Amino acid sequence: MIRERAYPVDPWHIRETRLDLDLLAQSESVFALSNGHIGIRGNLDEGEPHGLPGSYLNSFYELRPLPHAEGGYGFPESGQTMVNVTNAKLMRLLVNDEPFDVRYGELRSHERCLDMRAGTLERVVEWISPSGQGVRVRTIRLVSFTQRAVVAILYEVEPLEGSARLILQSELVANEQLPPMSKDPRVAAVLDRPLQAEEMMEQRTGGILVHRTKASDLRMAAAMEHLVDTPGRHAITTEGHPDWLRTTVACRLEPGQKLRVVKLAAYGWSSMRSLPALRDQVGAALASARLDGWEGLVQQQQEYLDAFWDHSDVKVEGDPEVQQAVRFGLFHTLQAGARAEKRPIGSKGLTGPGYDGHTFWDAETFVLPALTYTQPSAAADVLRWRHSTLDLARERAQTLGLQGAAFPWRTIRGQECSGYWPAGTAGFHIAADIADAVRRYVQATGDYDFEREVGLELLVETARLWRSLGHHDRHGRFHIDGVTGPDEYTAVVNDNIYTNLMAQQNLMTAVDACKRHPDLARKFGVDDEEAASWRDAAAAVHLPYDKELGVHQQCEGFTRLQEWDFENTPPEAYPLLLNFPYFDLYRKQVIKQADLVMAMFLRGDAFTPEEKSRNFAYYDARTVRDSSLSACVQAVLAAETGHLELAHDYLGEAALMDLHDLHQNARDGVHVASLAGTWMSLVAGLGGMRDFNGQLSFAPRLPSRINNLEFSLLWRGLRLRVAVTADEVTYSLRNGGGSARLTLIHHGKELEVTQVQPVTMPIPPAVTVGPAPSQPHGRAPVRRAVH
Ligand code: BGC
Repeated sequence: MIRERAYPVDPWHIRETRLDLDLLAQSESVFALSNGHIGIRGNLDEGEPHGLPGSYLNSFYELRPLPHAEGGYGFPESGQTMVNVTNAKLMRLLVNDEPFDVRYGELRSHERCLDMRAGTLERVVEWISPSGQGVRVRTIRLVSFTQRAVVAILYEVEPLEGSARLILQSELVANEQLPPMSKDPRVAAVLDRPLQAEEMMEQRTGGILVHRTKASDLRMAAAMEHLVDTPGRHAITTEGHPDWLRTTVACRLEPGQKLRVVKLAAYGWSSMRSLPALRDQVGAALASARLDGWEGLVQQQQEYLDAFWDHSDVKVEGDPEVQQAVRFGLFHTLQAGARAEKRPIGSKGLTGPGYDGHTFWDAETFVLPALTYTQPSAAADVLRWRHSTLDLARERAQTLGLQGAAFPWRTIRGQECSGYWPAGTAGFHIAADIADAVRRYVQATGDYDFEREVGLELLVETARLWRSLGHHDRHGRFHIDGVTGPDEYTAVVNDNIYTNLMAQQNLMTAVDACKRHPDLARKFGVDDEEAASWRDAAAAVHLPYDKELGVHQQCEGFTRLQEWDFENTPPEAYPLLLNFPYFDLYRKQVIKQADLVMAMFLRGDAFTPEEKSRNFAYYDARTVRDSSLSACVQAVLAAETGHLELAHDYLGEAALMDLHDLHQNARDGVHVASLAGTWMSLVAGLGGMRDFNGQLSFAPRLPSRINNLEFSLLWRGLRLRVAVTADEVTYSLRNGGGSARLTLIHHGKELEVTQVQPVTMPIPPAVTVGPAPSQPHGRAPVRRAVH
């Protein structure tokens, strides 16, 4: 785990002031830079030592066989794994013949700083070589938000005393050797030399490497170019090999003199474009980067982020650690989605190889809410990507004997890649999660063109899936049997409430959207009878309830199962999935992650306040949070049921997931769902924001230690600012002019906000009903305040 002091508290920076080689892999994830198209891990410039080298391109993957010990009908046979592509960040330095390597000589000072406003990672090091020559190295790198194919690195080195001969070798390296992976099922498969060389072109100051994957047949090109600035003479040459290209800059410097090299790198990939076309594409990206130069790229990055923070920042006063972590979360959320552009968002973004680089419901349910209300075009693009995989999802539904579209539980390209069907294929709720993201996006933006372009078809095909997967019993009740809800410790169950309620909403959203676009609905073959069957199913959805305990059942029969022996489960036995057989987890009341609690958030309109309180207390006591997708949701329900201190604790856990490496696997990449979920904990949790039936509502309340919370949302083109203190909240519009009006609900009361007239409202005190929530033995979240 990363100790708390690894990164000092600072509102806008993540700073590392000491190099701890044992934490290298985690810090590589924390310091990863990405724009959603390219991702580069925070590896040291000189490549070694490293925890896990990593450079990724969104959707650039290789196929691999997916062996099953015992096969079965409908099991996917081919997996997809994100490829560690050609490394363009490598810059090795030789100081008087000695390689700059922090494991040798003396590392006098070390600092790395992720600047979340500038969008850069800066490193400043003073190193004394084993033979006594001191140098100061300063590097700054960025993955451009404005030029999506471009990575730029500024490398500066100067001798500290005495004149020094400096040789800088800047490289492109394909098929890097990767360290062996652990047996943890959550990490990735290691591919053996996945890239086949197709072309190498070198010029004096850089060059291009083109490679192709063997099985997935994707082609990629990486190019580099160097701008050198140094007093006196320097020599520059480039030499190449099919798998690497090396530009060498040599010079001799006196103290006070600096070698300054700007490395511009560009990436491109395609499944269709020819080799010359791809070569030209990266050449053009480099030309464009050269046109703006280092200063231009830095300035564009700054302007892009100024605009982002202006409308997305969340201010939290009273808990500086959480303030820093919230911005870190938003920054990584942006990095994951900003330029994904009709490509998926993986559960680790492009920060590491965890889960093979796959996208899950994490994207639609955790990342898209934050993007929808801050960067809506990025949210729309992810859904456009889903839409582009509809044919594959239809095919999958057919294979499974179902109608409509069965989207994959995990994938890169669109095919199901889960080798474990109880937590893969059976996780049908992904369909409703996609539909929910469509509903949210259309509601928040009023973008009905999008609804016509992709939204309606997604809604129709997912509604068809539910209609064919579920059935009416002899009393007319609609059941969905044999599915797995979000809680992966309870699998293949009947009537999982989360699935049923989300499917219900999916069916009704499809009915409404078909009414809005009757011509298109007809084109998709929806007639009155089909729409009526969706309505009937939705109206009859069964929600299992335990009358004796007075709580809903996460699925039929859940509250009858044997209790888990939490008292005798030691801390080292978590996560349980690595220490207990699934058969034992499945037959007991132990919950991996928010499931019914998630339903009470996303379908809060289906529960009374009292039901929410009773259910929350019952289920919190059985939820172990072995998934990073849990704490942020529990924060929301803790806040809604009036347990504000507990909400703060869960918020802290979600926010610090990676900065404190709470799940001890940040090495494989950051947990994007939890990072985006932090926004959800604050906005939907402490801010109480909901969007049921197209109506924006808030019910803000702060815990004792947070005295101020401010956030902004985009709603139908209007920028709403919400500023909360302990006693009151002010709603204001930041654009729209005099005529713009926004109607919202504040703690149950309707009010109207205009740009000229902000509205300040008092906050009613929290009322708690029913039993107080508690957690399984030893699983309470870390407290953020004395309570
Ligand atoms: C969780 C899933 C999640 C996946 C990827 C699993 O551990 O149970 O809900 O989608 O991780 O983050």
